[in-house]
Amino acid sequence: MSTIYDKFGVRPIINVSGASTRVGGALMPAEVIESMREAATESVSMSELQGAASRYISEVTGAEAGYVTSGASAGLTLGTAAIIAGCDLGKIESLPRTDGFKNQLIISREHRNGYDHAARLAGAILVEVGMNEITANAGVRRTEAWEYEAAINDSTVGIYYSQGPDSHPPLEDVINVAKKNNLPIIVDAAGELPPKENLRRFIDMGADLVAFSGGKSLRGPQSTGILCGKKHLITSVALQNLDMDEFFEIWNPPSDLIPKDTLPGIPRHGIGRGFKVSKENVIGLLTALKLFVEDAYVSTYGEQRQFLEYISSSIDDETINTKIHEPIEGSPILTISINLNLHKKSAFDISNELKNGSPGIFVQEVGLEQGVITIHPLNLNEERTKLVTERILKVIQ
Ligand SMILES: *Cc1c(COP(=O)(O)O)cnc(C)c1O
Repeated sequence: MSTIYDKFGVRPIINVSGASTRVGGALMPAEVIESMREAATESVSMSELQGAASRYISEVTGAEAGYVTSGASAGLTLGTAAIIAGCDLGKIESLPRTDGFKNQLIISREHRNGYDHAARLAGAILVEVGMNEITANAGVRRTEAWEYEAAINDSTVGIYYSQGPDSHPPLEDVINVAKKNNLPIIVDAAGELPPKENLRRFIDMGADLVAFSGGKSLRGPQSTGILCGKKHLITSVALQNLDMDEFFEIWNPPSDLIPKDTLPGIPRHGIGRGFKVSKENVIGLLTALKLFVEDAYVSTYGEQRQFLEYISSSIDDETINTKIHEPIEGSPILTISINLNLHKKSAFDISNELKNGSPGIFVQEVGLEQGVITIHPLNLNEERTKLVTERILKVIQ
C-alpha cells in the first residue's frame, strides 16, 4: 500500500478507529473532495461565504443563524467568546481578559472533560455544580437542575452543557433553568450526529448555541465544525473570527450575518482570528452537510456491515468472540473480545502489534482495558478490509 504520505516519509495506516482526530478523522467522500478542489480555484468574499453558510445551516438546523468553524472545539471557544462579549467592541478587544465582566459559565461536574478547555480559552471561569457520587461509589444521585440555579450569581454569564447519550440532568431541564434566569446555554454536541434529527433537536429544545464536528460522521474536512444558534451570538462569532483589516466606510458584510448599522465601528482582529476557516473548508463542510441531510450516507451503512462481516467471519478462534453492534442510525461496529484466560496476548498487545506493523492498523481505544478490540468501519473499503483481516489473523495467532 503506497500513499501520498510516502513522499514525505510517513508510513501508511488504516484507521478503523472511526472519526478519531488523532488518526485523521473521517475520509471525505469524492463529492466533498471535488467541491474543495473547485472552491480552491476561485476567490470569494469570506463574509459573503459565511453569510451563505449561515443561511444553509439555519435551513437544516432550524436555528436563527449558523457559522462554519474550524472544528467543534473552535465553535465552543467562539461561542463562549460571543456569550461573554456579545457585540460590545470593547469587550471583544479585551478577551481573553474578562476581569470585571460577567464571565462565569456553570457546568455540571460530570460534564467536565478535556474539551472544556475551549470555553476557558475565551476567558470563561467554569463553576462546577453537582457531585460525581456514582463514580465515587458514594451515592446514587447525579447532578440536579436546582444545583445549576443555586450557583447563579451576578458574575454568571451562561451555562455550558456536554450532550451525550447519557447526559444528565436532561438538557430540557437545564434549558428551563437557563430560560427562567435569562441566561444563554451553549451545548457541546460534537459527536451527536447521526441521528440526523439531532441537527434540529437541541435547537428545538431552546439551546442558544450548539456546536457540532464537521470531521466526524458528517465526513467533512477534519478541521471544520458547525456552530448554530441565536442570531446576535452568531453575529458576535463572525465579528471575532473574520479578518477585520478593513475601513468601516467600505466594509460591507452581509447584513443578515453582521448588521453593520447597529455597530459603532469595526473591531480589530478578535480572539477567534486564529481559528481561520478557509473557503475550501467552508465549501467542503457545506457539501458534506448537504450529503448528510439528503441521506447520502445511509446506504453506506449496509456496505460497512458487509466489511465487518467479512472480518468477523474470517476470525475462527475459540479464544475470541466477535459481535456486530447496530445503532438505530449510523455505522455498525465490530467488537472482538479476547478471552484473557485462554489467549496469551492482551487486547493492548494486539492493538500495539496492529499499530506498529505495516500498514499500521489503528483500532478504537475504547474497550481495550476490558480485553475488547473495537473496529469502526467508517474508513474501510474492500482493499482495506482484506488488509485489516490479514493483519488481525496474523497478530491474534
Ligand atoms: C470530538 C469532540 C470535540 C472536538 O471536536 P473537533 O471538531 O475535533 O474540534 C469536542 N467535544 C466532544 C464531546 C467531542 O467528541
